[in-house]
Amino acid sequence: MNEISTFSALHENIKTVLEKPSLFAEKITRFSAGGLGACAYSDDITVGELARSWQHKEYHIKCPHCGAEAYITQWAGKVGSGGYWEIKAYCPRCGKEYRYDMYAAGNACRAHWTALRKILQEERESIRIETARLNKRDGDQSLFPFDKYKVWVQRDDSPHGLANMHVCHLQDGWEIKIFIQNVELWQVVNYGNRSKDDGFVDVVMMVKDWFRSPTTMPGRVGTNQEAAQYEWEACNDD
Ligand SMILES: [Zn+2]
Repeated sequence: MNEISTFSALHENIKTVLEKPSLFAEKITRFSAGGLGACAYSDDITVGELARSWQHKEYHIKCPHCGAEAYITQWAGKVGSGGYWEIKAYCPRCGKEYRYDMYAAGNACRAHWTALRKILQEERESIRIETARLNKRDGDQSLFPFDKYKVWVQRDDSPHGLANMHVCHLQDGWEIKIFIQNVELWQVVNYGNRSKDDGFVDVVMMVKDWFRSPTTMPGRVGTNQEAAQYEWEACNDD
């Protein structure tokens, strides 16, 4: 498929983009918020991220020209004056992108930039997790086949900052975190259908074995453990 570079192309192909938003990493717009001479927030948005954001009603407005649902393509907030903002939106029926400010748009515009930013960041994090999924190409021969387990790395939320990754059993509902370097259990996020005193010793042993196998991640060489470490550094380099 061709690269998506316009909002009309994104609207027409949104189902394809939503299937694999991480593949659509080209920049398409920018969101920002600032005050007088100060920029509090400024961020380039990818096609995949915008497509995911458009799934939220906060990113829809009613086109004042034709009344159809339009999709926000750009927003800018002004922090100092209590959240004054302006937006641009694409109306598929008109086939045009319109600019609105708080006066022109009136009540048709419901969203505030902080709400829009929160949605964007949550969607971005979920795309990032999908990208950093270590077993997404693992089949039945793997200890962690992709249709039964989710194994991924995400941005660090630990007090110690040691490299760790998540393992989740999709059907049984448990989720744990494991240290990548010494392959030990760090935290149980969810026990799922296991008992509350379970130490997940069997899973830790499986991770040890799986870590020695070559990674199936596209364009990557080395073991699963090396791939996990690489993803950790990619996620936590800033
Ligand atoms: Zn319209």
